[in-house]
Order: sequence, then structure tokens, then C-alpha cells
Amino acid sequence: MNNFVFYSPTEFVFGKATEMQVGTLARKHGARKVMIVYGGGSVVRSGLLDRVKQSLLEAGIEYCLMGGVQPNPVDTKVYEGIDFCRREQADMLLPVGGGSVIDTAKAIAAGVLYNGDFWDFYIGKAKVKKALKVAVVLTIPAAGSEGSGNTVITKLDGLQKLSLRVPEVLRPVFSIMNPELTYTLPPFQTACGVADMMAHIMERYFTNTQEVEIGDRLCEGTLMAIINEAPKVMKNPEDYGSRANLMWAGMIAHNGTCGVGCEEDWASHFLEHEISAIYGVTHGAGLSVIFPAWMTWMVEHNVDKIAQYAVRVWGVSESGDKRTVALEGISKLKAFFSSLGLPVTFRELGIENPDIDRLADSLHRNKGELVGNYVKLTKQDSKEIYRLACI
Ligand code: NAP
Ligand code: FE
Repeated sequence: MNNFVFYSPTEFVFGKATEMQVGTLARKHGARKVMIVYGGGSVVRSGLLDRVKQSLLEAGIEYCLMGGVQPNPVDTKVYEGIDFCRREQADMLLPVGGGSVIDTAKAIAAGVLYNGDFWDFYIGKAKVKKALKVAVVLTIPAAGSEGSGNTVITKLDGLQKLSLRVPEVLRPVFSIMNPELTYTLPPFQTACGVADMMAHIMERYFTNTQEVEIGDRLCEGTLMAIINEAPKVMKNPEDYGSRANLMWAGMIAHNGTCGVGCEEDWASHFLEHEISAIYGVTHGAGLSVIFPAWMTWMVEHNVDKIAQYAVRVWGVSESGDKRTVALEGISKLKAFFSSLGLPVTFRELGIENPDIDRLADSLHRNKGELVGNYVKLTKQDSKEIYRLACI
């Protein structure tokens, strides 16, 4: 196991009606005026936004509002938010929604206290040293941004989708997680969230770091819990217990617990970011296409952990050679994604003829000559994986 620092100061407040505590929690964490950030309107239609406002009013916390964050959030909304936040002199960001809203709020929180262009952080030109506090009311288990120090933003000019990880500054101070808020999710969004959280675990699980028994078992156990619970919520969207388990799994998947002490991979996420940047698809749906393709490629290049995953997570019999075992695990993963209504090929994703040269050029321009760690991918390797995602 590698040396590590694990710093996760977020206060999680989990359960029914917990959104009514947002005012007292904001006060406890030192807010005077919060800037609420939300998306395309689901929180307005559900009545959640009104309950959040009411709780803030009751606690004597002022607020201002910025809606209209789109899925796969873009830089122009961040610039608008930075200006607005400065004008309003808000001292805490309060995203009410999913990863897109939370990631936008994190970018604003860092950008407000920086004299230059916030995009400098994403291209590695500057380091985030300080940010306004971010607190979350979560409405979809997926990105795990409620417990992570990460944010992913797309620059519209050039369609560059880049992630930034600063756990020591950008972890939310508190996150409210009420599973009932996820009852209204369209089935496709629920399924995409499942694919994303599974991907966050697998990016950590597929490592060459040795002696990571605790990491391996946390990953395998959390994956098995998700595989067990997801079909139940697809069948009964108001199954509180399963919604609750999925919601917590989404947090565990990405706050660093699972990958602690491992060299993580992240190639599949980076391969996917190019697809959602260029074709505008939902991140989780892009992952359900790319991750099995990445694993299939790995069968020929570093099979060991793929075979272990097949046996331990999917119950594939160990008898037989590792390649066969690994391939059976991958077909079980694909069948599972399909059973949730997720795509597993580019065509099913609605992209008949993906521009593989463009995707791979952009990936390696953004991420360098080699991508990932389990096997470091060259541009040629990335193209082969994109091709495997076509069949
Ligand atoms: P999202 O993009 O925030 O939301 C997806 C859709 O679900 C939106 O249309 C939203 O509608 C709707 N929605 C959310 N909650 C709902 C509810 N309770 N009821 C009905 N509809 C609801 O979803 P996400 O998957 O959480 O975030 C995706 C983004 O996060 C991507 O850009 C991805 O790359 C990024 N990401 C970030 C990290 C990280 O560590 N920060 C990790 C992985 C992925 P409204 O807009 O109307 O609310
Ligand atoms: Fe993700």
C-alpha cells in the first residue's frame, strides 16, 4: 500500500426531511449569505427549492439564486456565477442538485477568490489555494461530488472537458442527503448515476499497487451492494431503503475511501470526457460504453485484476484461463448495464460513426502522451479502445 493523506472533513447529514436543516447547518458553518445554485428546474418543480429557501429564512441566512446550470456544465456559467457572487457578496455556495450544479458551484467558489481566469486551475496554470465554502443539497447519486474535492467543467470554446481535484480546499463543508429527493429521477438518470458510481470504484480498483486488501474489499463490497440495489430502484422508484443504499454508495465510491493507498487509473473517465464534451451525451451513459471496452482491451494487456474482479464481483468460476474468466466478467457487466437500459456501444449511445481520430487527438492533447496507470495508454491504444466500443 502506498503512503497517503486522507482528509475528508465533510459533515454528512443523511435521511428523510434533512433538507429542512440547511439553514441551521449553514449558520453553524459560518455563512451570512449563501448563493444557491441549481439546474434546469427539477428542484423548482419538486418544491425542494422552496423548502431550502424557507429553512434559510428561518435561520436568518440571506440568499441569492442562480439557476440554469446545464448537464455537462460549461465555463460561461461559471464566469456568470463568479460575477454574480461578487456582486451579491455571498460567502457560501449552496448547490442544490447533482454533479453539474455542485461542480459549477465549486468552480465559482475557487474563482471568486482568484484574480485571474478560473480556467487556469483546470489547465494546471494555477493552484487553488483558497475558496469560498461549498455546502450541498444532493438530488442524484452519481458524480459523488457531494463528498469529493473534484469538479469537472467544459470550456465551450474548443469543447475541452477537464477535471480538477483539490480535496484540501474543495470538499463541501456539509452535504445533505435525503434519499426521498431522488424518487423523481427519470429511470435513465438513475441508471446513469449507477454507471458513474461503479466507474468511480473501478477506476480505483484496477491498480497495480500491491497489498491493497482493504481497498480491494471495500471496492468489491460496494460494487456488489450497488449491483444488488440498482434493479430494485429501477423496479420501484420509491423503495426508500434501496434509494438510501445507492445514495450512500455514490458518496463512498468517490470520496477516496475505496482507493486509499492505491495508484488510481482514470483512463476510462478521460476517454469518456471527450465523448461527452464533443457529443453532449450523459456522462454515465458514456461510461457504460467505454468501461467495458477499456476492460476488454486490458484482457490482452494486464488481465490479472480484471479476472479477480470477474470472480469476486460477478461470481464467475475461477476454473479456466484468466482471459476466459475476465471476458465472462465483462459480459456480465455489459448485461447488467443493458438490464438498466444503458447503452454499451457507441451506436446504442446514439453515435453511429464516432470520429475516433478526433476523440483520441483531443484526449492526448488534453491529458498528454500517456493516459491512465493500470496500463499507460498511447494514442494508438486509445483509438483501439474507442474502436472496441463500436462493437
Ligand atoms: P447532473 O448533470 O447534475 O443532472 C442530470 C440531470 O438529472 C439533470 O437534467 C437534472 O435536472 C436531473 N435531476 C437531478 N436530480 C433530479 C431529481 N431528483 N429529480 C429529477 N431530475 C433530477 O447529474 P450528475 O450525473 O450528478 O452530474 C454529471 C456531471 O458530473 C458530469 O459533467 C460529469 O462529468 C460530472 N462528474 C463529476 C465528478 C466529480 O467528482 N465532481 C465525478 C464524476 C462525474 P435539472 O437540471 O432540472 O435539475
Ligand atoms: Fe464520473
